[in-house]
Amino acid sequence: MLKVEDIHVYYGNIHALKGVSLEINEGEIVTLIGANGAGKSTLLKTISGLLKPKQGQIVFEGKAISAKAAQTIVKQGISHVPEGRRVFANMTVGENLELGAFLRKDKKGIKQDMEMVYDLFPRLLERLKQQAGTLSGGEQQMLAMGRALMAKPRLLLLDEPSMGLAPLLVKTIFRIIEEINVTGTTVLLVEQNANLALSIADRAYVMETGRIVLSGNAEELTSSEKVKMAYLGGS
Ligand code: ATP
Repeated sequence: MLKVEDIHVYYGNIHALKGVSLEINEGEIVTLIGANGAGKSTLLKTISGLLKPKQGQIVFEGKAISAKAAQTIVKQGISHVPEGRRVFANMTVGENLELGAFLRKDKKGIKQDMEMVYDLFPRLLERLKQQAGTLSGGEQQMLAMGRALMAKPRLLLLDEPSMGLAPLLVKTIFRIIEEINVTGTTVLLVEQNANLALSIADRAYVMETGRIVLSGNAEELTSSEKVKMAYLGGS
C-alpha cells in the first residue's frame, strides 16, 4: 500500500532522515519506535507531504506522492494526526470535525462518517458545541483523531497519541486505534510507549538517528534482546 524508498530529509544542514525505506501493507498496524530525535515525526511529516525529501521516493497505492502538496495527499487517502494534537482551539468540537471533511463533497458519506466518529468517541458527541480549547488532553486527542477520520483515510498516521495522557485513557485510545484498524483503516503509529505499541502492532520498525536499524513482526521484536534493552525497560 505504502512504499517509502531510500528517503533523505534535511532541516537546513541537519540530515534528519538518512536513507529510510519501509513498507506498509493494506490492513496492517505498523509501529515506528525509537528514542527522541530519531526522526520518527520527520518521517510521518514527509509521508503526509509537510516536508519534502531531497532524495528517494514515496509511493502510495501505486502513485508517487513525494512531490505532491499535503492537501493532494490527504485527498489520495492519507491523514496525519500530528504530535501535540493541534485542534482549532477557538472552534467548537463539531466545527473541528466538519473541517476534517473539507476536501469531500459526498454529503451522505460525510454524515455517515460523523456518526462513525461519534460511535468511536461518544465523548465528542457530548461536547459537540464546546470550544475545542477547553477540552482535556485526552478529549483533544480524540478530537484530533476524529477530525483525521473525517477525511476518510485509507492510511492513518498517528504521532504519539499517548503523550501526556493518564494510563487509563491511553488504554482507551489504543483500543480505539485497534477498532479503527479493524474497520478497514491501515495505521502507521509512532509511539514512545514501545510496549504498548508492539502489543497492538502487526509489524514494527526501529529508528535510530535517522535510520531504520531493525524491523520485523511485532512478536519477534518484543522478544528481541536489543529491543528489550533499549526500548522495553531492559527486562
Ligand atoms: P520526538 O519523539 O522527540 O519527536 P522524533 O524521533 O520524532 O523525536 P524528529 O522530531 O523527527 O524525531 O527529529 C529528528 C531530528 O531532526 C532531530 O535531530 C531533531 O532535532 C531534528 N529536527 C526536527 N525538527 C526540526 C526542525 N524544525 N528544525 C531543525 N531540526 C529539526
